[in-house]
Amino acid sequence: MNAVAKPVFNKKAITDIRHDWSREEILALFTQPFSDLMFQAQTVHRANFDPNQVQVSTLCSIKTGACPEDCAYCPQSARYDTGLEKEKLMAVQAVIDEAKAAKASGATRFCMGAAWRSPKGRDMGYVTDMVKGVKGLGLETCMTLGMLKSEQAEQLADAGLDYYNHNLDTSPEYYGDVITTRTYSDRLETLDNVRNAGMKVCCGGIVGMGEEESDRAGLLQQLANMKEHPESVPVNMLVKVEGTPMADQADLDPFDFIRTIAVARIIMPKSHVRLSAGREEMNEQMQAMAYLAGANSIFYGEKLLTTPNPEASKDMLLFKRLGIHQESYEIHMDEKEQAAALVKSLAAEQESIKNDKFFYTA
Ligand code: SF4
Repeated sequence: MNAVAKPVFNKKAITDIRHDWSREEILALFTQPFSDLMFQAQTVHRANFDPNQVQVSTLCSIKTGACPEDCAYCPQSARYDTGLEKEKLMAVQAVIDEAKAAKASGATRFCMGAAWRSPKGRDMGYVTDMVKGVKGLGLETCMTLGMLKSEQAEQLADAGLDYYNHNLDTSPEYYGDVITTRTYSDRLETLDNVRNAGMKVCCGGIVGMGEEESDRAGLLQQLANMKEHPESVPVNMLVKVEGTPMADQADLDPFDFIRTIAVARIIMPKSHVRLSAGREEMNEQMQAMAYLAGANSIFYGEKLLTTPNPEASKDMLLFKRLGIHQESYEIHMDEKEQAAALVKSLAAEQESIKNDKFFYTA
């Protein structure tokens, strides 16, 4: 591998937040010798975070399958026959129960995902009640519901949603090979709406979709050059699902995956970099290497939306063997507010059950 430019790395670069990364600079980080890259990533990581602390989130699919979008990697798209059973929107109380179980098994953030192009007006009351109820348990909240208009982003922010996840998936150049039903600028617009509403941004992508290294650099360049870096950057490894157009994609060299984590850590020094989908196929040594490269957040639980995720207990055992502890989360909501949020969400659910309008196919 030939570096296209000498990597910029000095004392200032360890904690500096930059928004002017060139593709060449990022590629130069990618293409340097692996040990040099890991050393830099670990140095940046230690300067900005407790290196032995990992944030743990649980992901709950609140509405599964039948999505009208055509993301070529996704088993939830209605366009591909993947055998996935579609499910209706979960009841608010069922989501709160899942969140309670997640909290009991150690999660500090509860992420709720719906396979929608974007939420409809009728969905907003339910999802905002879910946010209030989950938040009332003392958990940090995150949602991923597709594209958001500015009013919808404001509704979610008003309900207390902490994070909104909306990924860019890949570089602008490779994007058209992956998705045709929404544009890159649609995604950027949603991210702007989320930011303007005052929520934190969770935004990353997927590697191993047949893209080039310059596309991985291009994705990270887009993220790092946002006005504010996403607070959370999920780096997913493609999970090849039978029936999707990406089922037969060639395997990505695991070191290229680790390089992507390391470069994300260097150029977004204060963001949580999340080891996301694809962990099931990574052995413990590779996961440990991802932590060493600067990953400091994971999804925990038995399912990652619809793809398998290593069992929760396996994660905890690995944490123990590596001396990793979990990041805690203190919710800033007084007890009265928590109780009121919970009572309101339960009352809303009772009402919707009474009217028999709670469940529907989105
Ligand atoms: S990734 Fe999201 S938007 Fe794309 S098909 Fe899957 S559920 Fe739909």
